[in-house]
Amino acid sequence: MEISGMDELGIFAEVESQARSYCRSFPVVFDQAQGSYLYDLKGQAYIDFLSCAGSVNYGHNPKPVKAAVIDYLQRDGIQAALDMHSRAKQEFLFNFRKIILEPRALSYKMQFTSPTGTSVVESAIKLARKVTGRQHIVAFTNGFHGMSNTSLGLTGNRDNRQPGVDPYVFRMPYDGYLKGLDSVEYFERLLNDNSSGMDLPAAVILETIQGEGGINVASADWLVRLRKLTAKHDILLIIDDIQAGCGRTGTFFSFEPSGITPDMVCLSKSLSGYGLPFALLLHRPELDQWSPGEDNGTFRGNTLAFVAATNTLQEFWSDDRLVKHIQANEMLLKTWLANVTERFAVHIKQVRGRGLFYGIEFHDASLTAAVTRACFARRLIIERCGPEDQVLKLMPALTIDAETLQTGLASIFEAMQQVLEYPSSSESDTDTDTLRFYQ
Ligand SMILES: *Cc1c(COP(=O)(O)O)cnc(C)c1O
Repeated sequence: MEISGMDELGIFAEVESQARSYCRSFPVVFDQAQGSYLYDLKGQAYIDFLSCAGSVNYGHNPKPVKAAVIDYLQRDGIQAALDMHSRAKQEFLFNFRKIILEPRALSYKMQFTSPTGTSVVESAIKLARKVTGRQHIVAFTNGFHGMSNTSLGLTGNRDNRQPGVDPYVFRMPYDGYLKGLDSVEYFERLLNDNSSGMDLPAAVILETIQGEGGINVASADWLVRLRKLTAKHDILLIIDDIQAGCGRTGTFFSFEPSGITPDMVCLSKSLSGYGLPFALLLHRPELDQWSPGEDNGTFRGNTLAFVAATNTLQEFWSDDRLVKHIQANEMLLKTWLANVTERFAVHIKQVRGRGLFYGIEFHDASLTAAVTRACFARRLIIERCGPEDQVLKLMPALTIDAETLQTGLASIFEAMQQVLEYPSSSESDTDTDTLRFYQ
């Protein structure tokens, strides 16, 4: 099989910073994308099981959303608007309340922050500290909350952490982190013990399913007890639903099955439904103690994202068709996962997840890497997560059709067969540049 030569990749290697990352796993130049397919410069198709880390949950260029975006551009809809009133924002506010909040009996205020995940986390923490007058934030082992100072302080991964990140973070074990330790019980003990050394925190922030951290799933019971404990001690509970939200786990918000109501919710990634930068902080009305302009930012009114997001809500969330579709796909995925776990039992440590957000943890991280490379050789885009990148992360589009899902899963199966059962035919070099010579 032919994979694009280095010549067309030259400009990236010569000019683009070493900070680049995902491109190293997939050394081709992508040009077009539709639904669950990506196309490179040569028109070669790839099935997408990465969905831009959950930023294109509805597939690439979903047609009804695209039509609305084109129409908005065509009629010279206002683009840059700071946070002035725009019709685009008006319609999004109206529709988000009607389609998402009201049916779930949620009465959050909506704050548009700067349009990335890390900035909505920064705003949430800033607000929590302002409202409570306290400084410490509880974050969890293997949590991921972004790359700017405060968010990075909350993020666990040592490869990303830097000296000087926000130090006022108290790290707690996530659900299931240590066998036999109930971390909510531990937290309660620390709060009640006057000499535990823990300052009363302003807030607790967590993902209900840790995305980058390895698809670690918090149980509903653990979440409910954490909610009760935080409420009792007047500590704000912030759910970072940037990756697990927007339908990824089978419901719009990932915390819905547990029945908890967080004090704040962070959304970004798939919120626009079109891969456009967009972020939203939801907070209880009593917490809305900002003075005008106190948490300012130029791109808090990304009108094209508002337009795309409004149409995404209308198209995918105003009835239960998408939820049913996700459930059907999950059934299919779970059957496949059961087969795979049995077939490759010696290599697989655990399979975890919910909705269309699953991870296959291998005992040996180098095998996970080899499997992703073997997938790419079969033109399937899939990534890894977890502290050692030992977890194969399955994140197809929520809208994927059963046939494409099966085709993608068959490619993973073949890749696993090749790597796990015929290792001599697989390369073991971790340098992705060798991929060109592979297969
Ligand atoms: C991606 C992500 C972020 C950070 O979002 P950016 O847009 O990359 O800044 C924060 N939290 C979670 C859970 C994420 O998955």
